[in-house]
Amino acid sequence: MTPPAARFALRFAVAALAVCAALGPGFGQDPYEKLREAMVRDQIEARGIKNPDVLRVMRMTPRHEFVPEEIRRSAYEDRPLPIGYGQTISQPYIVAYMTEALDVAKTHKVLEIGTGSGYQAAVLAPLAAQVFTIEIVPELAASAAKKLARYPNVNVRQGDGYKGWPEEAPFDRIMLTAAPPEIPQALIDQLKPGGKLIAPVGRSPWSQELVLVEKNKEGKIRRRSLIPVMFVPMVPGKN
Ligand code: SAH
Repeated sequence: MTPPAARFALRFAVAALAVCAALGPGFGQDPYEKLREAMVRDQIEARGIKNPDVLRVMRMTPRHEFVPEEIRRSAYEDRPLPIGYGQTISQPYIVAYMTEALDVAKTHKVLEIGTGSGYQAAVLAPLAAQVFTIEIVPELAASAAKKLARYPNVNVRQGDGYKGWPEEAPFDRIMLTAAPPEIPQALIDQLKPGGKLIAPVGRSPWSQELVLVEKNKEGKIRRRSLIPVMFVPMVPGKN
């Protein structure tokens, strides 16, 4: 006969196990942490991204929370993923590459055009003072705003990115994550002297070049082409 104390302990252990099983295999740890670590090591560091702050935010931002539920398991794969409405979340390496190239500092006010899933804004948030992000598709703007609610320095607006965000201008940094045929003049105008803007630019829907624009203290523009990229086109807003 089992003594009552041992029997109680056994019952307790069985019940605890059942609770853990019900909560799922990742209980007690982030089940995506290993995948995220491998993503940073194999896709991002291996390809030459070195900025420790960029690597740190890529390690801590939960990309799986920004993709649709049914493709969460693919969130850390080496490719862009569909997020609905014909749009995509960029490949992790491209997010890291653009973030590093933009050279964001903790004092910066940053504007992003093309909020999409909200992931890029979440990556920028810990690196900047404030992030302002504009999305033209109302449903995407609403869902990204919800996901970004826990990043108090991120502001989401539904609207046309071609116009920028004049009430908050000028910006230290501007990032476009949809491709215009040419960099919109309104965005160059909203860039601070000494500021930088990065954008995929091109008329073709399947190939553009990533362009880095620097505005010097005198307001002069210097433009450098970085790498070939593939982004969704930036759609002109109505009116
Ligand atoms: N940065 C996003 C990916 C962007 S995909 C992320 O991290 O998930 C490009 C996004 O730009 C799409 O959501 C698309 O709807 C949006 N977009 C396209 N044209 C736009 C415009 N004129 N103004 C604002 N957003 C636009």
